[in-house]
Parts: sequence; structure tokens; C-alpha cells
Amino acid sequence: LLEVTGLSKTFGAREVLADVSFAIEPGETLAVIGPSGAGKSTLLRCINLLERPTAGRVVLDGDELTAHGRSERELAQVRRRVGMVFQSFNLFPHRSALENVVLAQVHALGRGRAEAELRGLELLARVGLSERAANRPRQLSGGEQQRVAIARALALDPALLLLDEPTSAIDPELKREVLAVVRDLVADGMTMVLTTHEMRFAEEAADRVLFMADGRIVEEGAAATVMRAPAHERTRRFLSAVR
Ligand code: ATP
Ligand code: MG
Repeated sequence: LLEVTGLSKTFGAREVLADVSFAIEPGETLAVIGPSGAGKSTLLRCINLLERPTAGRVVLDGDELTAHGRSERELAQVRRRVGMVFQSFNLFPHRSALENVVLAQVHALGRGRAEAELRGLELLARVGLSERAANRPRQLSGGEQQRVAIARALALDPALLLLDEPTSAIDPELKREVLAVVRDLVADGMTMVLTTHEMRFAEEAADRVLFMADGRIVEEGAAATVMRAPAHERTRRFLSAVR
């Protein structure tokens, strides 16, 4: 479903991603782990072109997103197929949970209000927030806000969902409910790339784990293999430092 080939990104003289290549099949979940500054967020931002890669290709469903000469309009269409959930939720503060999920559909897909509301309520129920539809973000816990953000991303029916540290801005006791929602998506066959510092979660929820350091892929493989029997010394050092 997603094929990333030779992706590089430099900021000035700094090489943040260097020749990153990997692919994921439909229904697979890939967890990207690695030390702070490894380039995990930049990688996700390059996949949906929030950040323009310096070199390399991103191909989604046979369509090269990085093809040259795409108009802003085309790029917007591309981004719609790739949902993104940020560490900091990025909800509209003055809109209710339901409105946040509805507006995305009305603006991005041109869906009618009635249909968008129906789908919004269905998705809020799916993330366990039926009771909170009328609340504004400020009236919600961090975990609830993040679940609204996930519902909003799902409302656009993305082919691929990117989650950048979905639980790192959330109190430890509230992480569990967000992780449960992500696990549900895994069980449901959603195709996802997520970054996380939660090693147990990466091992349980992801099919495959990709370990990055200094902008490069150090190793990649089945989640249990990378987490329990990593092939590289660099991966071993990282895992023993964070566990
Ligand atoms: P963390 O685990 O802390 O979230 P990360 O692996 O997500 O780290 P990135 O946010 O991708 O790391 O950043 C990788 C490197 O790129 C960092 O050194 C960062 O300072 C640098 N970087 C990211 N965005 C920019 C930018 N817009 N301009 C310059 N440097 C940047
Ligand atoms: Mg990051």
C-alpha cells in the first residue's frame, strides 16, 4: 500500500533523513522507534508531504505522491488519503468534539452536514466518546482530545493513518484508553505508521518495528524479533536504555 524509497531530508546542512526505504502492506501496522532527534516525526511528515522530501519517492496505492509538478490542489487531495494524528491533538478549541469531526468532512470532502454528523457520531462512539460530543476540547482530558483527533482523522476515510506519538502528551493513566483505540484500529485492519516511545505498545500492537537512529534505518523486522532479539548493537543499546 505504501512504498517509501530512498527518502532523504536535509534542513540546511543537516541531514535529518538519509536514504530511508521501506514498504507496508494493506492492514499492516508499522511502529517507528528510535532516540529523540532520530527523524521519526520528519519521516511521517514527509510521507504526507507536510514536509517536502529532499530526495526519494513516496508511493501510495501505486500513485507517486512525490511526483514533480503537483499543484497545491493535488497535494491537498493526496493529504486527504493519508490521515495524520499529532502528539498535540491540534483540535479547533472553540468547536465541540462533534464539530471538530464534522468540519473536517465538510471542508475536505465536501460532505453534506447531515451525513457528516451521522458519520461523526458513529466515529465518536467508536472511540468511546458518545457522551462527550458536545464538549469543547478544553472540557476534555488529554486522552479524550486525542481520541477526538483520531475520530477526525478517520472521518476522512484515509487509506493510511499516521500517528506521531499519540500518547506522549497524555497523563499515564489516560494513555490506556488511547492505546485501546489504536489496538482496535489494528484489529480492524487499518493500515498505520506510528511513532512511539511506548515499547510495550510497539511490540504488542505493531506487526513490524523499524528502529531509526541519526536519520537512518538501523533495522526493521517483525515486532517481536526487533524488540526481543535485535540484530544490531545500536538497537540493543537503545532498548536497554528505554526499558
Ligand atoms: P522525538 O522522539 O524527540 O520526537 P524525532 O525522531 O521525531 O524526535 P524529528 O522531530 O524528526 O525527530 O527531528 C529530527 C531532527 O531534525 C532533529 O535534530 C530536529 O532538530 C531536526 N528538525 C526537524 N524539523 C526541522 C526544521 N523544520 N528545521 C530544522 N531542523 C529540523
Ligand atoms: Mg517526534
